[in-house]
Amino acid sequence: MASKHKIEWTEQTWNPTAGCSKVSAGCRNCYAEVMATRLKAIGVKGYENGFQFSIVPDRLNEPLKRKKPTVYFVNSMSDLFHHEMPEDYLDKIFDVISKTPQHTYQILTKRAEKMFVYLKDKIITENIWLGVTVENRKDGLPRIDYLRQLKASVLFLSVEPLLEDLGKIDLSNIDWVIVGGESGHKARPMEKEWVVNIKKHCDEKNIAFFFKQWGTWGADRVKRNKKLNGKELDGKVWQKYPKSIEKKFVIAREN
Ligand code: SF4
Repeated sequence: MASKHKIEWTEQTWNPTAGCSKVSAGCRNCYAEVMATRLKAIGVKGYENGFQFSIVPDRLNEPLKRKKPTVYFVNSMSDLFHHEMPEDYLDKIFDVISKTPQHTYQILTKRAEKMFVYLKDKIITENIWLGVTVENRKDGLPRIDYLRQLKASVLFLSVEPLLEDLGKIDLSNIDWVIVGGESGHKARPMEKEWVVNIKKHCDEKNIAFFFKQWGTWGADRVKRNKKLNGKELDGKVWQKYPKSIEKKFVIAREN
């Protein structure tokens, strides 16, 4: 789930597992893979197995120790619904989440079917936001169909890295759409029309649209430092949050 930059739409990361394996086109330049290899090389605890999926029980209770309400992005270095995740460990992660209602947990996966099967008959506590990655039509759009069937306080899409025009998108039941281009020297370009199409779908349904960045390729199709490419779309920054969580999220980020 990792991306090569500070995650703007969260506050803290919590990684009770480490490592992953590639499942779709969006994984090609996975930052977690590069980072895990580096962290293993310098002996960081939890990364003894590099990018191989591993549970990290030492980190399981981190949120229990933190009293200050915090917005956590769960597993920036892994995928919570990886096929090697032991179900009893997943239960423990959700138990920590339910015991810490002061925190908010953003759970993003590319394994949408597995998330759906695990959560469909469970109570999804109010502090959980669920999201799926949508990098293209083939892999990404079916994930939305699983996501929209779950009842969480926020359902969101991480359309990053956007690799092609998504065409017609059914955004029923979706609360928030985050869009971004890829970073890094191997980044694949993103066309402005693809972003505009998604924004149009969001505007039609009054869904919060958050444009994170262009990434390594600018709106003018020139490759350069991503900071120079910025995050404006047609001369404006579009970074909206769903109304239901805007206040809480902004307060959390300011504290
Ligand atoms: S699912 Fe996320 S963490 Fe796993 S390989 Fe793909 S991009 Fe990397």
